[in-house]
Amino acid sequence: MPDALSLTQPALRVHPPTVASVPLVFDSPHSGSWFPADFGHCLTEHELRCGEDTYIHELYAIAPSHGAALLEATFARTYLDANRAETDIDPDLLDAPWPHPLIDSGKARYGQALVWRNLSDGRSIYARKLSVAEMRHRIDNFLRPYQQTLRELIEGAHAAHGVSYHVNCHSMLSVGGKMSQDGAGSRRADIVLGDRDGSSCAPEFTELVRTFFADAGYDVRVNDPYKGVELVRAFSAPQQGRHSLQIEINRGLYMNEQTYEKTAGYQKLEADLQALVAMLAKFARSRSRA
Ligand SMILES: [Zn+2]
Repeated sequence: MPDALSLTQPALRVHPPTVASVPLVFDSPHSGSWFPADFGHCLTEHELRCGEDTYIHELYAIAPSHGAALLEATFARTYLDANRAETDIDPDLLDAPWPHPLIDSGKARYGQALVWRNLSDGRSIYARKLSVAEMRHRIDNFLRPYQQTLRELIEGAHAAHGVSYHVNCHSMLSVGGKMSQDGAGSRRADIVLGDRDGSSCAPEFTELVRTFFADAGYDVRVNDPYKGVELVRAFSAPQQGRHSLQIEINRGLYMNEQTYEKTAGYQKLEADLQALVAMLAKFARSRSRA
């Protein structure tokens, strides 16, 4: 157990629009590579980075120049998964009972609740239990600031424009690991869109993005195997004009999954995502009621 719980840099970065705003917000909760000093893991940082959505905030970096905000988490996804509810705690990870109500999302079964117990290939992240104080520290200083900032960005866009479109940005392993929900060895599509079976955004928004990727030559699936988790659920209400969609990109398209280096495919993907952002900004502007 570490001696002190530390916070030496802000948990997030906001990149606000640099031109007139449109009701469009991007967030990248898993691309951070900061390992806080109190992490207390037993694997190497290189090993832990396989949980990271490497380069995702860079791939969408053009968003502010089209009037959209971009939020990125700076901390490692294996330290705390910002795409989880604070009630989604794995009780087996703690050395004492959690003193607040828990709601099991099903992720703890795979060792990947709010704080992960293991990587997707089953390797344990800790050789110890975590204290309630450590869990509390991670929630208070990492989860809540991130989710609160995302809420404010979405609410700000909605207040200014009468509508909001939120894109929750991720990448996925090209092949499922031992603890992956779709099973070990499963090969993923190029792109998986998640709208929680049509409940987190209007069907036209999912279809707009699906058509874009399909026309660009990508193999796209919708809600298979990823439907979207907490961040597309928490702040969406399509009936009130609050739309959230998750985009998962296959890491095999743009990076070496062993060395984390960019591959030759990076530039093409980046160019395609720049075109996607431009198209979505135009769409969001057309739906603004400002
Ligand atoms: Zn992710």
